[in-house]
Amino acid sequence: MAQRMLKFGNLGQRFPDKRDVDARRQDFQEIFGEYDPDRAAQQASRCSQCGIPFCQIHCPVSNNIPDWLKLTAEGRIEEAYEVSSATNNLPEICGRICPQDRLCEGNCVIEKGFDSVTIGSVEKYITDTAFEMGLVKPPMPKREREQSVGIIGGGPAGMAAAEQLRRKGYQVHVYDRYDRIGGLLIYGIPNFKLEKWVVERRVDLLEKGNVVFHRNFEVGRDTSLADLQKRHDAILIATGVYKARDISIPGAGLENIFQALDYLIASNRKGLGDTVPLFDDGTLNADGKRVVVIGGGDTAMDCVRTAVRQGATSVKCLYRRDRTNMPGSQREVRHAEEEGVEFIWLSAPEAFLGNGEASGVRAVRMHLGDADATGRQTPQPIPESHFTLEADLIVKALGFDPEEVPTLFGVPELEVSRWGTIKIDFRTMMTNLDGVFAAGDIVRGASLVVWGIRDGRDAAENIDAYLQAGTAGEGRPAQKLAMVS
Ligand code: FAD
Ligand code: SF4
Ligand code: SF4
Repeated sequence: MAQRMLKFGNLGQRFPDKRDVDARRQDFQEIFGEYDPDRAAQQASRCSQCGIPFCQIHCPVSNNIPDWLKLTAEGRIEEAYEVSSATNNLPEICGRICPQDRLCEGNCVIEKGFDSVTIGSVEKYITDTAFEMGLVKPPMPKREREQSVGIIGGGPAGMAAAEQLRRKGYQVHVYDRYDRIGGLLIYGIPNFKLEKWVVERRVDLLEKGNVVFHRNFEVGRDTSLADLQKRHDAILIATGVYKARDISIPGAGLENIFQALDYLIASNRKGLGDTVPLFDDGTLNADGKRVVVIGGGDTAMDCVRTAVRQGATSVKCLYRRDRTNMPGSQREVRHAEEEGVEFIWLSAPEAFLGNGEASGVRAVRMHLGDADATGRQTPQPIPESHFTLEADLIVKALGFDPEEVPTLFGVPELEVSRWGTIKIDFRTMMTNLDGVFAAGDIVRGASLVVWGIRDGRDAAENIDAYLQAGTAGEGRPAQKLAMVS
């Protein structure tokens, strides 16, 4: 039923129904259901159609949120989808996993007195409904171009760039070292936030649109960057960041201590039906164990909630700052607490305890001292405040750094920042190598899916401008595409 707008005064905020905690703890399905058409229209109608929409300003892809909310409220889903997909290649994924409380919804002006419009849930509803209605089509260009682009990395940045370039008619090849396309959407983020069929549905569309995926193809191992440059007119590096940060304290070499991504990949692979020996033999499986996760970001939240679902007997999260100063989304902390996770704020590990296998963590209480150069208060240990947490499985979720791309790709001349991220000219997104562009986490450092999409789209525009300006290598032999197997 079509709704008038500005209903926030008399219509309360209502997210899609959240599954019962006991049921959630037993499986890996997404925790939120879907709006029905009436609820979606009602919730969209709460928007006050701001002249200066702060929601849009704080959305990394500058979604035209007020317009698609109005169209949804009027039941015009086809048009809502057209507007929403004009700025975002993966709206149903962003609707599920953007930290909306820090982005669009956190800046919705009615948030102050009336609770924000449920922007992400409506965005998810629009695209999921558009899929059901058959409105979401593969990227089919009006005319084909001979020029080809090689994209290294099939995560959100690579997928967004691939779709945009394909729409413009380029021959697009995506190279990924994994056996599945999607990057961290497949192997990092757990099912209870993003079920994998949602990602696979997108990959299928790209494949139907003749994007060529080269799975199990690792640049640096299976070919060099120089070789790829010969095959393509332009290259986009979108390889993400995967070098896990570590902690060097006594006991670091004990067994039963793992990096977060190893733990999450094993769980995601299991969910996808793969054989995972280290999961099956119990090594990377929290079933029946006391689990301690170290860290306070989204990755740590994903680990604790995965451990709950695997049947851990207790799950504790150790973080050196407090709740307000953690990097992870507050919504995710609430979900974890509902599911039985215990947070131990203002505490840092000092040593892993045990003999051969880890049996616990010795930690120390912290307080927040003076602000550092970035303005964040520095955690400092409180003397004589040690305590011990018993554990059978310890997961380190301390963040990620870039791998050494110039060395791996055999191009020592590729410029990187002092953090190891690839340096680009931010006006063109090109690296210091002619025709080689970069996007996503490998440029920004560990970031968000929606920023990866934004970067992928911007890179596609810049690659198009570069190729249309005719600056691409002259006289490429016509058989180059055929060389790409
Ligand atoms: P990636 O997604 O990392 O993709 C890079 C791809 O490059 C991978 O498929 C990799 O296999 C491939 N690759 C790497 N090296 C090579 C090579 N040499 N040759 C060929 N292929 C290569 N963000 C959110 O917005 N919301 C969340 O809830 C969220 N949760 C997260 C949970 C976890 C556990 C993690 C780790 C991250 C999470 N993020 C989240 C962050 C988000 O996943 C990333 O910011 C985003 O995926 C970055 O996209 P990308 O395309 O740059 O890189
Ligand atoms: Fe909000 Fe993310 Fe959607 Fe933008 S893309 S409107 S930030 S959920
Ligand atoms: Fe609507 Fe909130 Fe955006 Fe204003 S800020 S346009 S009320 S969603």
